[in-house]
Amino acid sequence: MMDAVNLLGFDLQGLAAYCEQLGEKRFRATQLFRWIHQKGASDFGAMSDLAKSLRDKLAGRAHITALPVISEHVSADGTIKWLFDVGQGNAVEAVYIPEDDRATLCISSQAGCAVGCRFCSTGHQGFSRNLETWEIIAQLWHAEHSLRQRLGKDERIISNVVMMGMGEPLQNYGALIPALRMMLDDHGYGLSRRRVTVSTSGVVPMIDRLRDDAPVALAVSLHAPNDPLRDQLVPLNRKYPIEELLASCNRYLDKAPRDFITFEYCMLHEVNDAPEQARELIALLKGKVPCKLNLIPFNPFPASGLKRSSNERVKAFADLLIQAGIVTTVRKTRGDDIDAACGQLAGEVQDRTRVHLRMVRAPVVVQRGAAAPGVPADAQAPATSVTPAPPATPTGPRP
Ligand code: SAH
Ligand code: SF4
Repeated sequence: MMDAVNLLGFDLQGLAAYCEQLGEKRFRATQLFRWIHQKGASDFGAMSDLAKSLRDKLAGRAHITALPVISEHVSADGTIKWLFDVGQGNAVEAVYIPEDDRATLCISSQAGCAVGCRFCSTGHQGFSRNLETWEIIAQLWHAEHSLRQRLGKDERIISNVVMMGMGEPLQNYGALIPALRMMLDDHGYGLSRRRVTVSTSGVVPMIDRLRDDAPVALAVSLHAPNDPLRDQLVPLNRKYPIEELLASCNRYLDKAPRDFITFEYCMLHEVNDAPEQARELIALLKGKVPCKLNLIPFNPFPASGLKRSSNERVKAFADLLIQAGIVTTVRKTRGDDIDAACGQLAGEVQDRTRVHLRMVRAPVVVQRGAAAPGVPADAQAPATSVTPAPPATPTGPRP
């Protein structure tokens, strides 16, 4: 099928344009779109109410092809992790997380990630390439329809999607938007905007564009209460510092489906989990951005050289935020027996950026209370540094 087009890559508008090119009425696209996304069909012959002429035209020119599944792991808690082959030695992961009142799919947007956050295993792997729209939606398509088959159900299973897998979705904006539209489309997955979440490390101009193009729920990975620390943990902060990021969050709220932004904060032992840092965070956010805080216990991996905050420190941190009136939750870790927890998604990445080499060399230097208003200088702890793991052995692209 040399030049045949994969229809998984078209949102409804794109599919309508494609049908028009074939000399077909636009409404045919709706039928076709429903077959693909609502029924999980991949065989044109099975699309019984579709005009035979269209089926014949499609058979030679188009196909509906999912991503090859390399592996599937089922956790003791019901979480399922799929590893998908995206070619040339790269593989990405998606994770299904069933809960009492919802079932969430966590999707990848890139093979690797160029942002290079210190505490993220994807970031440590470097960056290979953006996923295409069809590769993003194929993760949902496969999860939804294979689960329906497995559970013998005919109705929708996945109720929520979070773009929290591998990659920075707002650095793959062009492919992301049609994929989001397919998730939201009533003829597609029919998810409401509040049940689709884009998580970003803070690509400010793209937060503004998302507000206009597909204002779904927004989660922002904050992780630090001041710029010096965030610069080290989330290198993108050097380009878009906290003040600009928070301003973009406020602009986003004009059109957001919820009246708050979720801030994610990965709890790193003696890096960002001290009480004075909680106070600094309160001063930063309270009355400035309507928000909820989601504290994520750090999921360790060897090359990070970082440690998970103790439960006591997480609780003390959360309590301070809650006392200050900021709604704060601690994320439950799911699927860690199959390495499916946040930040453990590592897939397989043929790094083209050498990010992983740059990252392990610089220690995280914590300047406690650096910008904490109201904290007297003599009460501030001295700067401490976190010794990183020894540099990883440089590895070239694998054959
Ligand atoms: N690139 C986007 C989305 C993918 S990461 C972003 O950074 O927001 C999804 C979430 O997992 C982010 O909040 C990220 O900070 C968090 N995360 C990354 N590595 C982690 C780790 N090792 N332990 C816990 N959470 C982690
Ligand atoms: Fe990329 Fe997000 Fe991981 Fe940072 S946390 S490296 S932005 S995937």
